[in-house]
Amino acid sequence: MKALVKRHRKPGLWMEEVKIPEMGPDDLLIKIKKTAICGTDLHIYNWDQWSQKTIPVPMVTGHEFLGVVEKVGSHVKGYQKGDRVSGEGHITCGHCRNCRAGTRHLCRNTVGVGVNRQGSFAEYLVIPARNAFKIPDDISDDIASIFDPYGNAVHTALSFDLVGEDVLITGAGPIGIMAAAVARHAGARHVVVTDINNYRLDLAQKMGATCTVNVKDRQLYDVMRELKMTEGFDVGLEMSGNAHAFNSMLESLNHGGKIALLGIFPDQVAIDWSLVVFKGLQIKGIYGREMFETWYKMASMLQSGLDLEPIITHRMNVDDYEKGFAIMNEGLSGKVVLSW
Ligand code: NAD
Ligand code: ZN
Repeated sequence: MKALVKRHRKPGLWMEEVKIPEMGPDDLLIKIKKTAICGTDLHIYNWDQWSQKTIPVPMVTGHEFLGVVEKVGSHVKGYQKGDRVSGEGHITCGHCRNCRAGTRHLCRNTVGVGVNRQGSFAEYLVIPARNAFKIPDDISDDIASIFDPYGNAVHTALSFDLVGEDVLITGAGPIGIMAAAVARHAGARHVVVTDINNYRLDLAQKMGATCTVNVKDRQLYDVMRELKMTEGFDVGLEMSGNAHAFNSMLESLNHGGKIALLGIFPDQVAIDWSLVVFKGLQIKGIYGREMFETWYKMASMLQSGLDLEPIITHRMNVDDYEKGFAIMNEGLSGKVVLSW
């Protein structure tokens, strides 16, 4: 089969012929129709320090996908050939305390599809059936292919009560923008999104942010004054992985404010801990998506009117993947979806 492989320990990905992965009795073999490019794929493509430490080479990359079940393992119940599925890219162990408690997103032995094991940038993917998620008929293939990052947005945004609250989102990457849409859909009042990239801020505005701030040009405090927010934000969603952004969030939250922290900082970050203490802030780290509570909410919110279409800004055939990665590297995109 055709697959996008990290073949050499240098920047790039290579389209190669590889063997269709073998499946076990608990697995599904999925024929891939659509995949989307994630920030993680970009790290691997660019071969940055994190990838050099993390990715065994060769590796079939990719983990955001929509496909159709081709073959069902002999022990699997509830799936049949032809089912449209996406799936959770975090393969959990099943025997640690959190897995046994049903909090699989906290599994200490998580293995990543397209990171530590064969990924979805391929004509076929094998994952355990317990990691698959059936896609309702009224959700399109393209939208289903971005369920993984949409799930990051939902898991983060719904970590705290947003109804009637003022929300600050730092970072208008695809996940921050989708989080703005989710926060509005869930009933937040002001949803203020910061970034340093006007293309992405415009997209955030289009998708539901009530106010966007390019922090290169404007002070967040001025915007808060304009919005008559005298006390500060109630909830912060950190989605930039940028230390300045995180520090500005700590400063602009109200006392008792809550932060859901998704962004991954490239280095250690110094913060003013007295802000956390004296304001009584709560900070919750977010990893992945809750299996499968987040996934059910994702589907339901789309079915109750959440519109994610504008976040897919580019669609192309997988043979043009070099172009897709170049667009992502420029930062002038939402999600890029590749057809197989
Ligand atoms: P992205 O890199 O596309 O978006 C980050 C955005 O932050 C960019 O648009 C960038 O311009 C912006 N930014 C940079 N400096 C800023 C500043 N000072 N203030 C405000 N914004 C600033 O990333 P993404 O794919 O949308 O993911 C968001 C973050 O979440 C990343 O840090 C990513 O590594 C992380 N992530 C975490 C998980 C998890 O499970 N915890 C999963 C996926 C992604
Ligand atoms: Zn586990």
